[in-house]
Amino acid sequence: MSDATKVLARCHELARITDVEGETTRTFLSPAMRRANDLVTTWMRDAGLNVRTDAAGNLRGVRLSTSEKAKTLILASHLDTVPNAGAFDGVLGVMMALAVVENLGQASLPFQIEVVAFSEEEGVRFGVPFIGSRAIVGTLEELLLGRKDLTGTSVREAIHAYGLDIEQLPDAVVPDALGYLEFHIEQGPALESEGLPLGVVETIAGQSRYELVFTGEANHAGTTPMPLRHDAMSAAAQWITEVETHARATRGLVATVGSVATVPGAGNVIAGEVRATLDVRSANDEIRDGAVTHLLHHANACGTARGVTVTSTLRMKQDAVPLDYGLLTMLEDAVDSTGAVIRRIVSGAGHDAMIVAPYMPAAMLFLRTPRGLSHHPDEAVLPADVQLGLDAGAAFVRLLAARENAR
Ligand SMILES: [Zn+2]
Repeated sequence: MSDATKVLARCHELARITDVEGETTRTFLSPAMRRANDLVTTWMRDAGLNVRTDAAGNLRGVRLSTSEKAKTLILASHLDTVPNAGAFDGVLGVMMALAVVENLGQASLPFQIEVVAFSEEEGVRFGVPFIGSRAIVGTLEELLLGRKDLTGTSVREAIHAYGLDIEQLPDAVVPDALGYLEFHIEQGPALESEGLPLGVVETIAGQSRYELVFTGEANHAGTTPMPLRHDAMSAAAQWITEVETHARATRGLVATVGSVATVPGAGNVIAGEVRATLDVRSANDEIRDGAVTHLLHHANACGTARGVTVTSTLRMKQDAVPLDYGLLTMLEDAVDSTGAVIRRIVSGAGHDAMIVAPYMPAAMLFLRTPRGLSHHPDEAVLPADVQLGLDAGAAFVRLLAARENAR
């Protein structure tokens, strides 16, 4: 069996471990997550790794170095999923990390390698993503630990119920990281549209998310003359088309109104209130901030024209995260050594690499995603691309070892 075949077989095996029969759903510290961790533990042990579960539920396997005071290269991704997920988002990155380590055999390296399977990235159970990666950089704070799921269980209680000790959380932090590398499917169509297997991530796009409330006046749809209306729906609709128009006209910007709710929401009543979300992303913070300013201003203008007031509330703001230039160029050399074309790429989605990047040099390799389809049962990846990614990963480890030995 080729390495890529083995990686894919393991991903499919993990996809059958689920909290919901007939689909692939594994959330933070769920029963299925425990079974998935048990299975990956056996693979890690077979690979000769020292395995432990940290206090945030991250599964960690260390390949020790012969050299004393060796720092740690982290190879990581996540094992949790969205509801009714595919087999590869996150899981592929963990299985590729493990395969890279397995292929090292007895080779002596000037650093340790720690394979980390994050317990939580998707934010499904607690509505907050990146619990696992926050733990390894020490930013899983009180506020987050108190956050509750739909059953009223807090993160802190979930950790306790799983049999872990929250007091041990400081031990989850990696004190001496040499670097971080994550393999992940692109989850978008860029690489496939260019016929390229791999992408070296240079930046993870920044995001701004708002909730807007358009408040007009509900009234009778038959008896209220057009000039006398305060129609919140018409104001919101005009604004939504500008969100699309502005983003189409701005290079490197995406903007989305993904959800609207109308009150009272009846066919024969003029809408008195519309609540709408706004999600704006770009690798360039100035472009993103400029777009947000314009779009919020425009929302007010759409309201004013109809006697509708508009309020906006910031729900999330995350600046763009550039990945480490030194590791990025090393990863490009590694990709080059496989014969694949080097393509730098911006990630429009958030990833664990974005959480760890402020604390350690971080790099990320994307694999082409057929049809750009992800967070879907039909999510796929090509075996040849996985093999190229593994080859690039092996080359990356060799290059990093050469750099460290030369110090
Ligand atoms: Zn993911």
